[in-house]
Amino acid sequence: MRFPIALYLHVPFCATRCHYCDFNTYAGLETLFEPYVTALCQEIRSAGAARGRPAASTIFIGGGTPTVLPADLLVQALAACREAFDVAADAEITCEANPGPPAASKTGAVDQPRFALLRRMGVNRLSLGVQSFDDDELRWLGRIHTSSEATRAFTAARAAGFANLNLDLIFGLPGQPPATWRRTLAHAVSLQGEHLSLYGLTLEEGAPLTDRVRRGLTPAPDDDLAADLYLFAADFLATHGYVQYEISNWARPVQTTSATPNSPASDRRCRHNLTYWRREPYLGFGAGAHSFETAPEAAGADRRWWNVRAVPDYIQRMNTTGSAEAGQETIGGRLAMGELMMLGLRLTMEGVSDARFREQCGAEVAEVFEREIRRLAGRGLLERLPDRVRLTPNGRLLGNRVFAQFLP
Ligand code: SF4
Repeated sequence: MRFPIALYLHVPFCATRCHYCDFNTYAGLETLFEPYVTALCQEIRSAGAARGRPAASTIFIGGGTPTVLPADLLVQALAACREAFDVAADAEITCEANPGPPAASKTGAVDQPRFALLRRMGVNRLSLGVQSFDDDELRWLGRIHTSSEATRAFTAARAAGFANLNLDLIFGLPGQPPATWRRTLAHAVSLQGEHLSLYGLTLEEGAPLTDRVRRGLTPAPDDDLAADLYLFAADFLATHGYVQYEISNWARPVQTTSATPNSPASDRRCRHNLTYWRREPYLGFGAGAHSFETAPEAAGADRRWWNVRAVPDYIQRMNTTGSAEAGQETIGGRLAMGELMMLGLRLTMEGVSDARFREQCGAEVAEVFEREIRRLAGRGLLERLPDRVRLTPNGRLLGNRVFAQFLP
């Protein structure tokens, strides 16, 4: 293993389902919380033991809404990670949470005492699913919280000691007035969170919204409107001190006296997600979770595998066979190189460096993809710097078309 591992824990439970969501998450499965976490801990322990308790640099508890779980179950899951892996003292430990009415703890909504408990468990980064600061938009999206409850959740998280906070926001709702998007961004900026993730609304197979659009009950999202809102956000956030480091992600540099550049104290990019974009190894635990391990040698084949999706199947498989693996693939050669380009080019500043490509693929990016890079640079979508390639601002809008050029 050439890198420390990133650990992802999937919590597939939510209080209700939002209209646009196609994640592997379910409402009304409270009776499965305990057996699910028991199975999750078993999977974590056996993965750590099989690899000789390797180093782990990040833990991301995502979902779903992880905070629907009672605190003692979250404590068990984190304890299993620490027992089975050598979790770094400065590990980034993220938990996703949703704002909501403080009294409704069964919804997974969090208040200051619950945030303080997460901090005491060692969670040091919180990702809040805010989505919008406009109440009409929140209702349309099927969210269970209001704008002011989202603000209260943010303030409570700060008061509980979270110094690394992300807000997830959605743009590109059908007919979304630019003014409401401006207000959402302005409010997000005024809260001074360290990190913002902006996602364009997309129609996902299986989401109720997609069905409503197909039946003509709701207009479809408009790509041109979404592009305008995205460009506005990029300008707006830049003028308010946020640095875009990935197509959908912005971080606020933190003033520090630390002499170590890019240390966790000075850099609020999401270290866990950087693992995915840099095509480094991660282990995913839980229903439907994916894992990826790189071959010991750059020229070898890497392996990706995934678990069964349904929660009862996951529990049953862990209880009976000790494994929930449902499928796997090996990736080597040109496909592995193409994946590195597709993922790495999402990093708008970093892109794919010659050194990274050489280290991970055992070849020169300028030779393997000479034709593609020349063609995309000629169309103004990619730029070749002395030591790396990366998207241009135009390329960020057409990322999927650029990435497709690198895949076999
Ligand atoms: S809270 Fe998040 S994971 Fe749960 S249904 Fe809504 S969007 Fe999906």
